[in-house]
Amino acid sequence: MSLLPLGSWRADRLLAARLLAALCVLPVLASCAVTEPVRAVPARPGAPAAHPTTTVARTPTPTPSEPSNATPSPALTTAVTPAPSSSKPGARSTPSPTTNAAAQATTRPAPARPGGTDCAKAACVALTFDDGPGPHTATLLDSLDANGATVTFFLRGDHAEEHPALVRRMAKAGHEVGSHTYSHPELTRLDAAQQRSQIERGVQAITDAGVTPTLFRPPYGAYDATTKRYAGAPLVLWGVDTRDWKTRSTETTVTTVLNEAHAGSIVLMHDTHPTTVAAVPRIVAGLRERGYTLVRVSDMVGDPAAGTVITHGQHPA
Ligand SMILES: [Zn+2]
Repeated sequence: MSLLPLGSWRADRLLAARLLAALCVLPVLASCAVTEPVRAVPARPGAPAAHPTTTVARTPTPTPSEPSNATPSPALTTAVTPAPSSSKPGARSTPSPTTNAAAQATTRPAPARPGGTDCAKAACVALTFDDGPGPHTATLLDSLDANGATVTFFLRGDHAEEHPALVRRMAKAGHEVGSHTYSHPELTRLDAAQQRSQIERGVQAITDAGVTPTLFRPPYGAYDATTKRYAGAPLVLWGVDTRDWKTRSTETTVTTVLNEAHAGSIVLMHDTHPTTVAAVPRIVAGLRERGYTLVRVSDMVGDPAAGTVITHGQHPA
């Protein structure tokens, strides 16, 4: 019997593993990811899942806000637990990263496409843009296209009615489209029938424009049990609030995102402001320099049940 040698071998392995974990985890999860150039590390199709398929729940950033008559939102308590299937390599429908990058080379500066990214391995960040489409959205879409970045939009139904071609362009470019009600009321001030109407009219208007929204974001982050009941989709909030609607400063918007984003962050911005649109190329470049892969919200959170409240996505364990 060689119990002693086996035992000490195990102890050595355990010690080494603990040291590694301490080195990686102690400073802050994201900093570990950031030191590695993880941009082009999409999962190899068919590779076994080496990482856990569930994410650690993080405490959401308190008091998110939005323009104008925002009142304190209800406590944001639920962090998402991604559906296990979401972390499977190649679960999304996009082609394999290598062939896709080659195919994209003529039109885009060869970014990693989010569909092939496993956010359990890569440090992912999801940029989100609310309240459009509007007069500055086409400029944003041009910019995202030029930078090969894919994001998530939360559209107002009435604005989708005004700009249906922009809604279709978003989807065609690979961006994700969610609903943000029909005319942006604070839902918790409405009765159940009014809430339901706002939610359903918003979805219908976007659908009529040609795209079926798959996510929902309540205006001002304000929701209650009725909202969750009628949302018909996951409620996507955010962890990084740029307050771009208030500062109207390109510089502040850039620095807020670059300072506050970490692996798994959902970043709130508004494409209704030209100052925000102007910030996007620097945000995209800055996040990539820091090792982040830009993905759509669903790339990071999978396919949670309707009514699930999401403030944060998956990140490397
Ligand atoms: Zn909004």
